[in-house]
Amino acid sequence: MSSTTVDVAVIGAGVIGTAAAWRLADAGVRVALIDRSHPAAGSSGASDGYLAVSTKTPGPAMALAAASRARYPAWLQRLGPVDAEVRGGVLLVDHSDGLSAIEAHARHLRDHGVDVDLVDGARLRQLEPGLAPHLVAGLVCESEMQLNPYKLALATVAAATAAGVIPFWPATPVVERLDATGATLALGDGRRVIAHQVVLAAGAASAALGADFGLTLPVAPRQGVLAITTKTPPLAQRFLVSARYLTHKRDPSLAGTSTDPAERIGHGFTCETLPTGQHIIGSSRRFVGFDRTVPPDVLAIILASAIAHLPGLADCTILRAFAGLRPFVPDNRPLLGRSAAQPAVIVATGHEGDGVTLAPITAEVVTALALGQTPPVDLTGLDPDRFAGTQPHT
Ligand SMILES: Cc1cc2nc3c(=O)[nH]c(=O)nc-3n(C[C@H](O)[C@H](O)[C@H](O)COP(=O)(O)OP(=O)(O)OC[C@H]3O[C@@H](n4cnc5c(N)ncnc54)[C@H](O)[C@@H]3O)c2cc1C
Repeated sequence: MSSTTVDVAVIGAGVIGTAAAWRLADAGVRVALIDRSHPAAGSSGASDGYLAVSTKTPGPAMALAAASRARYPAWLQRLGPVDAEVRGGVLLVDHSDGLSAIEAHARHLRDHGVDVDLVDGARLRQLEPGLAPHLVAGLVCESEMQLNPYKLALATVAAATAAGVIPFWPATPVVERLDATGATLALGDGRRVIAHQVVLAAGAASAALGADFGLTLPVAPRQGVLAITTKTPPLAQRFLVSARYLTHKRDPSLAGTSTDPAERIGHGFTCETLPTGQHIIGSSRRFVGFDRTVPPDVLAIILASAIAHLPGLADCTILRAFAGLRPFVPDNRPLLGRSAAQPAVIVATGHEGDGVTLAPITAEVVTALALGQTPPVDLTGLDPDRFAGTQPHT
């Protein structure tokens, strides 16, 4: 039976695990990257690519996003092409959204050094002429970027393997022995990975994997549906996202209490214009276990809302629709840090709808922790042991 000894085994080859593996190897660490399927098989391959700071909750989430966004330009210089573009983004406000809450949000963003402009409906339609007349305002952030998360995961795998990372897939590790100084992971084909430290980055599947390591990680899959169009004439310059999207993201209980079909699926409108001339239209937030099928009624709500926001979409052809599973944590904060309960384990999961945005800062935190250095950001509130002893989210 063959065994490979490494300093760090990273489990999960989504944008988080691949980024962590790359940065670790770049720092001279001997790394194994393990995925039960293949890179970007999880949420990272079924995601928009909006690198947004302006949609984050003030506090740690906004600070993390700003720190991560600041690191992207240097990253992108080192990775292959990932369709990265600074296109800007707009948070769309209609009559039902509280304008005062958006004004307060704009102030928080400026306090975090993010340049945003709150414009009225007339100015909004000058900037984005395709938008519907019912939108009364928009919070414009011209510095927001977008990229292709699937290509990002593949580019970081390529950079990681060039830096010496050893790939293992498809392989689901079974934890055979774990102590404070490392773990032995048995892979299905009889191989073993003996690691001094383990990075747990299994996305929506992190709860089960965490349990194998004796950790309580209440990560639940939160399904989001996206539809992609064929190439169309340009309908919008910027990434469009309705304020309702943020409300649902932050408060899952809204879907359960509402009788409105769109509210019940946690719908908020999003539209990303790709360099190919296609549009990605979203989305929903539902707890349906690990189901990745696309129900026609959910898709119908998303498409009707998309046309109501951006009427030109009525003339598009839908190429396909797909669903991804965001790694949701009940308090809406990632689980990021070294576990005090299992000191050989560094947890990097639970990024919900923000993992693409947060990949660079997460990778830097993981690397610093693995090397015994001080992390580059304050990890208060992100402690991976904070749910120990609680019941998982249902
Ligand atoms: C519809 C939708 C839109 C989104 N839009 C955005 C956006 O615009 N911007 C943004 O920043 N984020 C967005 N996200 C969120 C983003 O996709 C996720 O936060 C991110 O992809 C999570 O990355 P990850 O690496 O943690 O998890 P994943 O990408 O899910 O990767 C986890 C990996 O772990 C592997 N794995 C699981 N269990 C095991 C095991 N036991 N052994 C080995 N391997 C295992 C899986 O095969 C998988 O490859 C969106 C998500 C969705 C669903």
